[in-house]
Amino acid sequence: MQKPNLRQGSGRQACAHCSAPFEVTPEDLAFYDQVSPVIRGTKYAIPAPSLCPDCRQQRRLAFCNEFNLYPGTCGLCRKRTLSQFPQSSSVPYYCHECWHSDKWNALSYGREIDFTRPFFEQLTALKRSVPSLALDVQGELQNCDYIHYAGSSKNSYLIMHADFCEDCMYGYGFKHNRSCVDGFYNLQCELLYDCVDCHGSYGLTHCQDCINCHSGAFLRDCIGCKSCFLCTGLRNKEYCFENEQLTKEEYRERTQGIDLQSFKTYQECRARRREIEKKHTFKEFHGHNTENCAGDYLVHCKDTHASFDCENVEHGKFCYQVVTGAKNVYDIYQYGLNLHESLECTISGENSYHLLFTLGGNVSCSDLLYCWYMENAKNCFGCANMTHASYCILNRQYTKEVYEQLVPRLIVHMQKTPLRSFGATEGQTPLRSPSGSFAGYEWGEFLPVEMSLFGYNKTTAQMYYPLKKKDVLAEHWTWDDEEPQLPAVEKIIDAGKLPDSTRDIPDDVLHWAIRCEVTGRPFKIQPQELAFYREQKLPIPRRHWFQRHLDRFHLRNPRKFWKRKCAKCGREIQTTYSPERPETVYCETCYLGEVY
Ligand SMILES: [Zn+2]
Ligand SMILES: [Zn+2]
Ligand SMILES: [Zn+2]
Repeated sequence: MQKPNLRQGSGRQACAHCSAPFEVTPEDLAFYDQVSPVIRGTKYAIPAPSLCPDCRQQRRLAFCNEFNLYPGTCGLCRKRTLSQFPQSSSVPYYCHECWHSDKWNALSYGREIDFTRPFFEQLTALKRSVPSLALDVQGELQNCDYIHYAGSSKNSYLIMHADFCEDCMYGYGFKHNRSCVDGFYNLQCELLYDCVDCHGSYGLTHCQDCINCHSGAFLRDCIGCKSCFLCTGLRNKEYCFENEQLTKEEYRERTQGIDLQSFKTYQECRARRREIEKKHTFKEFHGHNTENCAGDYLVHCKDTHASFDCENVEHGKFCYQVVTGAKNVYDIYQYGLNLHESLECTISGENSYHLLFTLGGNVSCSDLLYCWYMENAKNCFGCANMTHASYCILNRQYTKEVYEQLVPRLIVHMQKTPLRSFGATEGQTPLRSPSGSFAGYEWGEFLPVEMSLFGYNKTTAQMYYPLKKKDVLAEHWTWDDEEPQLPAVEKIIDAGKLPDSTRDIPDDVLHWAIRCEVTGRPFKIQPQELAFYREQKLPIPRRHWFQRHLDRFHLRNPRKFWKRKCAKCGREIQTTYSPERPETVYCETCYLGEVY
């Protein structure tokens, strides 16, 4: 077997999947060395990655079905439950109560290591046999039967990538929020509707990139503002309308006629915000309080590079959506909450330490390698769906001594096992990319996309790296055509046939489904949702909640950098604003000189 020389040291390399060049720096190598596991005094070096940062992120995302939830039945108590697995899936799953109960034991699914077979194949077979959680939820939950990739919340509905929330609905990236509906990345907020990237705010409607604002609507990039409407780039203002300073009386007069219960009026204001924004000057990146960082949407980060949507991360690289505290972390997709010294993980964190190539290492986990959903576990290798476990391999219990003998043997086995198209039999050629470059060995690689429990199109990978069905199949990945079923309803009404004003919407709407004006996908209005629109005087949505999520997703900049010149000083900047966009973009220095 030819040994790939591209993984020996730092420098420019070609991605083994897409052939794109990417850089491995001496600092990267130092990090891989720092987190390499040490067993009985011997270090088992983690090699530099063979894929470029984007292909690595795509691979991680292909394991996360965040938005396609299906009605199903708990395999233990037989109660109806919402599930992340389609009806056609053969993956067994239990509801939150049963999964966390002592009515079953994940150890009973344990198996011996087979040193004649690829390790990844054995891990997948194990994962597909042990009951999974119907929805990935942790912590104290009250009346939260419909939340996913979330924890420690109350009375909330369809919130994802969310923690510590109360009375929230249809939120993504929600932390410490109360009574927020339809949002993307709202932290420590209350009574927000349809807001994107707003922090520490109260009573906002369709605002974006706002911090510490109060009672505003249709604002963009405002800080410390109160009672403002359709404004951009304001700092510590009150009673402004389209950036014009009014008196309290004038402001009341200008806004009191604007009835946001009318869907038409709401859409007009939304469109007006879009118009105003085109004339606004934007900073080269989103975020604040960063020190020696490169990326976008970074808040309170230090020495963090090539990262997006992170908050409170120190010394991180290739991190996405890592929030409320992480240090020394590389290649993490979600979520943080005090995650340390970890490499290549998805949806992991909460007081966890030294997680390597792990999917779902939750709540006080440490020293996990190649684990696939764990809670309160330490010193485990290749385990799935366990809680309070230690010294387990493939869900089999060992003593510390035997564990420390077996893990090095397993690592050596993985160092010799080439990655190849999953399901290929012994002796078949290793998986090669179209460029013909070698895809590497199991050790030091995240699980290949072929091992995902979900069709590629149903995962978050499809949002950031959209592919056509034929291209997915050409990669030997799976595609899933099954659509979640809607519970029985009295009738389905076209969105366009709804009365314009919430005032004229009867309670009967709760028994109907509304046909999404974009996708045609029917959706229901929940009783607490209708109460929210009525109390807050807001319109009833005409789009399915996932379409609304996509609409907000598209309001944000892509995770891609372009070279552009600062519109003021002409300095070259790296920014997520593509050069053809209409907005004016300044370097940070010029922006701070202008706006503050
Ligand atoms: Zn690549
Ligand atoms: Zn159950
Ligand atoms: Zn400048």
